[in-house]
Amino acid sequence: TIGMLALDSHGNLSGACTTSGAAYKIRGRVGDSPIIGAGLFVDNEVGAATATGLGEAVIKVAGTHLVVELMRQGHNPQKACELAVERVISKNPDYKDLQVGFIALNKQGECGGYCIHKGFSYAVFDKGNNRAIDSDSAVK
Ligand code: ASP
Repeated sequence: TIGMLALDSHGNLSGACTTSGAAYKIRGRVGDSPIIGAGLFVDNEVGAATATGLGEAVIKVAGTHLVVELMRQGHNPQKACELAVERVISKNPDYKDLQVGFIALNKQGECGGYCIHKGFSYAVFDKGNNRAIDSDSAVK
């Protein structure tokens, strides 16, 4: 999945995501990406989130809605992504090679990201500068 979240100069949040779906997917499969609250969720009062990985696992926990609700409860975007990944893991205890990750952005412009597997990074463009964030070493 390619997911993008934005906060404009007026303080408005937006998001988008696109995917080719899962490898060897069955005909008619709908992954998480086109489902609001699963692959993508934006609440302009709070924050925005998008997901990547096994769509079925993201759908089961309404993953990006969960991330945004965790931010509404006061968690920063990094912690919200981590807690949502923990929820996905707890709902799929026997699933080997489970892979799910989230990125999130809040109304204050803070961002975060976390993924089950190590090596997950995302790009941030802020005040004219690009930077890559390695979620494994993100400030918690
Ligand atoms: N989330 C997508 C899906 O399950 C896969 C991906 O990460 O691209 O359809």
